[in-house]
Amino acid sequence: MLAFQLHQLQEIDTGRDRLQAEIRALEARLADRSAIEAAGQAVAAAKVTLERARQALRAAEAEAESVRQKIRRTEQTLYGGQVRNPKELQDLQREAEALKRLLAVKEDAQLEAMLAAEEAENAFRAAETRLNALQEERLQQEARWNGDLATHRQRLATLDQRRQHLTTTLPGDALNTYERLRQSRGGLAVATVTEGACDACGAPLTPDLLRAARSPDTLAFCRTCKRILYIP
Ligand SMILES: [Zn+2]
Repeated sequence: MLAFQLHQLQEIDTGRDRLQAEIRALEARLADRSAIEAAGQAVAAAKVTLERARQALRAAEAEAESVRQKIRRTEQTLYGGQVRNPKELQDLQREAEALKRLLAVKEDAQLEAMLAAEEAENAFRAAETRLNALQEERLQQEARWNGDLATHRQRLATLDQRRQHLTTTLPGDALNTYERLRQSRGGLAVATVTEGACDACGAPLTPDLLRAARSPDTLAFCRTCKRILYIP
């Protein structure tokens, strides 16, 4: 009877251990927002890159436009009819040609800046999409985890009540022995006997020990692992 009660207590405690481990794991998952935070940081970084790329594009556009204006001014002077000196006209012609070569360089730079800005825009959108997907997934996960957490906590409360009720009916020294063994034996204080052997360590039991384990009011212990023996 005593071994049976301690076996029941062991079942309750094993269940409590498992629930507590699951509750801790769920709480850790709920507390860990690192994936979302990393995705949020990626969006912020992509936004900075995009803003810089847009700035660079505006600067490249302004530079090209400034060269175009210089070309227009030079050509206006060149074809305006006010300059007639051939040497001056030749200089203006050369200047216009040099400016056109410069414009080609500036337009290449502008095109590159445009491509870079497009790329940065795409990277920013992709980072945002990823963050949104993670946030949506997280909401669903949190709902599920919180649901599981509530269920586990409720089950744990039920087991706590059953444990409290059971321990009030147990003699203090048996309970102390049980608690001590549970601490020193990885949470398992009571071993079931199956086919004449200890279930916890596998050691076979002598006939004397088997008889002792059947006693209703004294406890018998496995000689190998020292756990309380319980014969179903
Ligand atoms: Zn054993």
